[in-house]
Amino acid sequence: MKAFAYTQLPGRVVFGEGALAELPREIERLGAQRALVLSTPEQAAQGHDVATRLGSRCAGVFARAVMHVPIEVARAARAEAQRVGADCAVAIGGGSTTGLGKAIALESALPILAIPTTYAGSEMTPIYGITEGGAKKTGRDARVLPKAVIYDPTLTLGLPVRLSVTSGMNAIAHAVEGLYAQDANPIMSMLAEEGIHSLAHGLEYVVKNPGDLHARGECLYGAWLCGAVLGAVGMALHHKLCHTLGGTWNLPHAETHAVVLPHAVAYNRDAAAEPLKRAARALHARDAAQALYDLARKLGAPVALKDLGMPEADLDRAADLAVASPYWNPRPVERDAIRKLLDDAYHGRRPA
Ligand code: NAD
Repeated sequence: MKAFAYTQLPGRVVFGEGALAELPREIERLGAQRALVLSTPEQAAQGHDVATRLGSRCAGVFARAVMHVPIEVARAARAEAQRVGADCAVAIGGGSTTGLGKAIALESALPILAIPTTYAGSEMTPIYGITEGGAKKTGRDARVLPKAVIYDPTLTLGLPVRLSVTSGMNAIAHAVEGLYAQDANPIMSMLAEEGIHSLAHGLEYVVKNPGDLHARGECLYGAWLCGAVLGAVGMALHHKLCHTLGGTWNLPHAETHAVVLPHAVAYNRDAAAEPLKRAARALHARDAAQALYDLARKLGAPVALKDLGMPEADLDRAADLAVASPYWNPRPVERDAIRKLLDDAYHGRRPA
């Protein structure tokens, strides 16, 4: 077995249908008396439901979370936490809401209890992101890792199919890159394989019937595992490409992951042959790149950058940016090959 080093992250997970009922007990475990509940405006009703469940342990609801954690919103949330004397943040929602909780915790070390309602996986990572002056700064800090996470599949029943699929593909991308990460380890690879399998299988049924609670549970379980992989090991070319495209051309986050992943995997096919065998096995296929492309198509996810608003004339610049300060990658990041990858992703071609 290849040598490895692995730091296990702390954190408690409560998983199950109706697990939200455990919230009062979980808050008590954290010893919190004054929780500030966070949500997006769209999920304010869920935020208020959480507040009701917390009863006297709720200090207020801040329902202003938005995508990419703008610094102004982070500052307003930090001020509100201070104003109400919060000793805990309860984030109910997707990566944007968890991200807002992280922005508060980064400065105050307030414990976060996360209640994820998408498959993005942010609740399992010590990674934060804050957008200032149009640029998103990301970093890792142990203080932002949620102390407890409640996964309740019933809360995901209303997640629209398209968002389910794209946030699920986003999660699968974490696990696939985790398999060939520079600091990959057998524990995370096990989680990655199981996570890919659970999400791919569950999503197939969610697309047919969004109210299928069993399938929703399978997806949320997969999201947990994929998020844990993202939290524990480094990412590579695929994430670099998505950050470049999302950051510079403002392409939608999860959709961009869905489009780029099969091509990044095809790029790394030979250099990461062994790890990618596990991804293929999780998808019951021979080739991971083609299986991921076929999965995206089957689920109705976007497969072409041109459909996400990427200008074809900017592909050269995108290739330049992706090659400048690249992340570690199993195959050297070569400009011409990256340009070709982007061309395939732009047109939505099935990887050869
Ligand atoms: P999101 O949190 O932006 O949510 C998108 C929309 O869906 C919001 O309006 C939200 O209120 C709504 N929504 C969420 N759950 C719902 C549900 N069950 N029913 C109905 N509507 C629901 O989307 P996301 O994909 O979860 O998160 C994306 C963000 O998370 C990006 O900014 C990304 O960078 C970040 N992210 C961070 C990490 C990390 O480790 N830091 C990991 C993954 C993603």
